[in-house]
Amino acid sequence: MHQIDASGIRKVFDLAAEMQNPVNLSIGQPHYDTPDLIKDALCQAVHDGRNAYSQSQGIPDLIERIQSDVDARWDHDDRRVFISSGTSGALMLALSCLVNPGDEVVIFDPYFVMYKHLTRMVGGIPVFVNTYPDFHLDLDRVRQAVTPRTKLILCNSPSNPTGYVAGSDEIQALAEFAAEREIALVSDEIYKSFCYDAPNVSPADWNDQTLVIDGFSKSHSMTGWRLGYVHGPQHLIQQMIKLQQFTFVCAPHPVQWAGLAACDLGMTDRVEEYRCKRDLLVRELSDDFEVAGAHGAFYLFLPTAWGTGTEFVTEAIRQNLLIIPGNVFSEQDTHFRVSYAAEDETLLRGAEILRRLARGGP
Ligand code: PMP
Repeated sequence: MHQIDASGIRKVFDLAAEMQNPVNLSIGQPHYDTPDLIKDALCQAVHDGRNAYSQSQGIPDLIERIQSDVDARWDHDDRRVFISSGTSGALMLALSCLVNPGDEVVIFDPYFVMYKHLTRMVGGIPVFVNTYPDFHLDLDRVRQAVTPRTKLILCNSPSNPTGYVAGSDEIQALAEFAAEREIALVSDEIYKSFCYDAPNVSPADWNDQTLVIDGFSKSHSMTGWRLGYVHGPQHLIQQMIKLQQFTFVCAPHPVQWAGLAACDLGMTDRVEEYRCKRDLLVRELSDDFEVAGAHGAFYLFLPTAWGTGTEFVTEAIRQNLLIIPGNVFSEQDTHFRVSYAAEDETLLRGAEILRRLARGGP
């Protein structure tokens, strides 16, 4: 644990704790509540006594439901589904099962914070592939990062924190490269429903060994409920279920029934709403900041107008705007993350502060 340096984000939280009614654009979850139909299904499951442990791999009804969607999209004989305790739980199981001490794990920088720490926790060595300035997944850079010790490539599109959605050419090249070099490929697709400009593509379209990790947290605003799922080659899924049995035990049982209800609930209206929020914020900020990525998820990852990410964010917080410095998600401190999972009025107030900051200088 001493290898994990959380001092940067702690400083930001310390500063934030003193803020009165901040303009908060730091949130990593939808601003809408869980839909009523899903809440009702949870209450029903609790009242029906579905409160004991479930099977480690999850309840058959939910597995079958997701498996039928997976089978309809991929014609992989060997692709199997199980239910995990959030996407985070699935990531932990995946890294624990795939990575031996000393193995290298390729992570695209900027990255979701957990990747680096989970890699270290299992004794792996994170190897960062820089994707600045446009966050493109450049296969030449991946080739340069790969060594005989490379065990795994972790990708995340749409991405947290950049909102970048990789094109099918990039994903295909990465997927085929991993297959050819026999490197495991884990695809974190938790934001897949939040794609605004082109449909989401998965490396599993080109590489049948891809382990796909997904969940209900973002799409259905269930972050506190801890429900995720995984699909991939059976031999790996079996090992992950075995480890789940001895760690998380199972995903919360009544929540799995709520997840079944969520499967029938389209969230396209919300996605459309977020597309409008993305457009609004990009319009408000593009005169003063260089926008790259921003095709999906609900984040913009912008280069500061001056100073490091930490310096710029410290001043933003002084002006009552809560955002996150880029070094929380990166080996460099040049950017900051803005979340547009907020009311339009909050976005407009935040944009005004950011423009003022950019024009005012340090
Ligand atoms: N992956 C990414 C890229 C995320 O942004 C998050 C949540 N912030 C997670 C995984 C974890 O999600 P869950 O709530 O399903 O554990």
